[in-house]
Amino acid sequence: MPTISINLKEGTIEKPQEVIAGIDLGTTNSLVAFMKDGQPVCVQDSAGKSTLVPSVVHFSGIGDVTVGDAAKEMLETDPANTIYSVKRLMGKSFRDVAGMKGYFGYQIIDDDTESLVKIRVKDRFYTPLELSALILKELKRRVESELNMEVSRAVITVPAYFNDNQRQATRDAGKLAGLDVLRIVNEPTAAALAYGIGNASQADKTDVETVAVYDLGGGTFDISILRIEDGIFEVLSTNGDTFLGGDDLDHVLIEHILGQLHLDGSALHADKAFGQQIRLFAENAKKILSERDLFEGTLKEKPVVVTRADFERLIRPLIQRTLDCCQNAMRDAGFTVDDIEKVIMVGGSTRVPAVKQAVAAFFRRPVFDSLNPDEVVALGAAVQADILAGNQQDLLLLDITPLSLGIETVGGLMDVIIPRNSKIPTRAGRQYTTSVDGQKNLKVSIFQGERDLVEHNRKLGEFILRGIPPMPAGLPKIDIRFVLNADGILLVQAKELRSNLEQQIEIRPTYGISEEEMGMMLLDSIQNAQTDMTVRGLLEARNEANNIMLGGEKFLKQNGDILSEEEQATTNALLKRLREAAEGQDKDIIHAAIEDLNTYTTPLAHRALDKTVREAMQGKKVL
Ligand code: AMP
Repeated sequence: MPTISINLKEGTIEKPQEVIAGIDLGTTNSLVAFMKDGQPVCVQDSAGKSTLVPSVVHFSGIGDVTVGDAAKEMLETDPANTIYSVKRLMGKSFRDVAGMKGYFGYQIIDDDTESLVKIRVKDRFYTPLELSALILKELKRRVESELNMEVSRAVITVPAYFNDNQRQATRDAGKLAGLDVLRIVNEPTAAALAYGIGNASQADKTDVETVAVYDLGGGTFDISILRIEDGIFEVLSTNGDTFLGGDDLDHVLIEHILGQLHLDGSALHADKAFGQQIRLFAENAKKILSERDLFEGTLKEKPVVVTRADFERLIRPLIQRTLDCCQNAMRDAGFTVDDIEKVIMVGGSTRVPAVKQAVAAFFRRPVFDSLNPDEVVALGAAVQADILAGNQQDLLLLDITPLSLGIETVGGLMDVIIPRNSKIPTRAGRQYTTSVDGQKNLKVSIFQGERDLVEHNRKLGEFILRGIPPMPAGLPKIDIRFVLNADGILLVQAKELRSNLEQQIEIRPTYGISEEEMGMMLLDSIQNAQTDMTVRGLLEARNEANNIMLGGEKFLKQNGDILSEEEQATTNALLKRLREAAEGQDKDIIHAAIEDLNTYTTPLAHRALDKTVREAMQGKKVL
């Protein structure tokens, strides 16, 4: 509890230092931590037993809302009004979660659109953001009651693969819970911070460190490869499986136990209470097998015996799946196991000795597992909060953008401004101009993705720069600037430099995107690279042809007096040929037609220029 000191000499009261909470907002469980005497600690429940707050929200018939253990208990008896795994829905559209329908026991509005998911509880609709805010409110309440003071600022962690919308939704959830969210931090970065990795004052600090963070929780698996240099954290790659975790270990054990009882899966469907009973029984057996070589129990009045060797054999394929993900993550980062210097274990399921051993054998080094794997991320968030409070000077945090960000240009082409895998925070910009004389408005449409045509990418937002002073096409100078801040929130600014006209947009979560979808987008761009290149080549050739045709027509109109009839007819014929070529599909034919027109008209243009110069000089003195 903070103490208030009174400075007797000066007669002043020194206020307790404000606490910034570190929050791990998890899929299964959430935790809140804070710094105490220079060390991060997690807040315990009132019974002092656990630091975990199940990420479950229950709505009672009379409108009471409960969060945590009490809500989790309602999962079996009142599933329609008990919401879990809401993190899986953050920043996602209905279309994104269509494949997950069977997974949720509550009602997700069945609407195959790109608008954000809503959950129906009785006659009210909730967004994942609102539900996350309820969990965050509970965490805020817990840390406040532990410290006996108001806590209004926090750092919240998210998976490294969360996109801008998901990060923004998490930030907004914090705001709704009454928290000023100072920073959204990647979970693997927080885990490394909890172990003091990257801290410049550390004795064994080397210049560059490469760290793998292996996170096997209740329902998800993530592997992240971090590079830490001079206190700068960079996520080099991430991989994982959004449906692989402790629940799957429980599953294989349930099947094994059913076999011992001479039952099959239908027994679970026929008797829901038995289904729940065996789930808890198996989870308990799994936990005991993390400590001992043998589990002995009784279920349905029959003995159940499982050895650790049995369990390890059963879960081997699941562990192998996680190692395959590790292999992929290292390949993406351009590393082999020998490049990885430290391996951190995160998530309750890394308590399983076979998991630890397999990971240590895979990376050929002992793993970091001295901290409670459930608490590591929250503890790291508290360390980050401490850094932001100015108490630790040595660390900076940096991440990368998972997908390219850019705008639509003529012909529906994607013009990348911030390429994928750029370090954030970052800023980049480019100058554009208008394509039509006297153009007053310019639409700026922002996209995310790797394909050459914006129609294949994901639209993040758009705005119109209105009121450009009338000028000939090509004269306005429009500076478009992308600023991606440390939380992955994107600010897009457009400024017409001659008139100082300015407009900007902060990208808000209007679209959702899943990790799988992000992977699909990358795969898509690789598979379609050849087609994309052809399409881009054709569109660029057409744009060039259009500009040249406009110029050619203007030239004919202004210089009819110095061109012979034959010259005018030939120029018109070449323009016609170019128009036809531009309507076709072959960029080489377009380029050839451009070339022919240019070759023929260049001497005519010189003649026109001579005439203009002569006229300008007439009657004028040259000094
Ligand atoms: P998390 O999502 O990180 O809180 O992880 C929760 C998962 O860890 C659940 O599947 C738990 O069953 C599992 N877990 C917790 N304690 C143990 C243990 N001692 N041994 C094996 N698994 C555990």
